Amino acid sequence: MLQSIVNLFFPKVCYACLELLQDNEDTICTNCRHDLPVTNYHFNDDKTIQKVLYGRAKIENGTALFRFEKKGLVQQLIHGLKYRGYQRIGFILGNWLGAELKTIPAYQHIDAVIPVPLHKKKLKKRGYNQVTKFAEQLACSLDAEYLDHVLIKTTNTSSQVNKIRFARWNKSNELFSIKNKEAINNKHILLVDDLITTGATLEACIEVLNEADNLKISIATIAIA
Ligand SMILES: [Zn+2]
Repeated sequence: MLQSIVNLFFPKVCYACLELLQDNEDTICTNCRHDLPVTNYHFNDDKTIQKVLYGRAKIENGTALFRFEKKGLVQQLIHGLKYRGYQRIGFILGNWLGAELKTIPAYQHIDAVIPVPLHKKKLKKRGYNQVTKFAEQLACSLDAEYLDHVLIKTTNTSSQVNKIRFARWNKSNELFSIKNKEAINNKHILLVDDLITTGATLEACIEVLNEADNLKISIATIAIA
């Protein structure tokens, strides 16, 4: 009853197409769930993500749930997730991809899921990392640990070491460092981000994660541009 009244004044809309949701729909309407441009990379053993990172970073497997299209449904979803506080989108999409990945042998031996982090200042400003819910639900689906204390986003200035690294990674202007690396020694980790475009961010992450011993890395993102 109360929920009906709330819905009357604040009708729930689909976060992709912005049409009104039916009572039995949650966050993304049934039409959008059918229309969203899935890649199916993981079902087809497609090597697109490996090719994006070719010669820069070696990975076991890589997939993206959707193909990103400007002004499309996926852009709308990522915008809502990233800038409007709709973390439920990450939760739904993590469950979606997680349910699929757990049926694929290549993803059944993932030990831990690691989200691409935000710098702590940015985290404070936004209030959340848009990758968190998506990555948590992947970890849950794959029965893997969720580790957000291993890969850390650092600043671009200060120490000489950072300056050297900054020069190396100036394609993305992003710097990361590894902490508690014993937590991932000898493990197969799934590195998770919202969007892969040039691959520069993931490349920078993989470089520092490889400071751990005998690490295998696979990748999952919400979308690929
Ligand atoms: Zn919709």
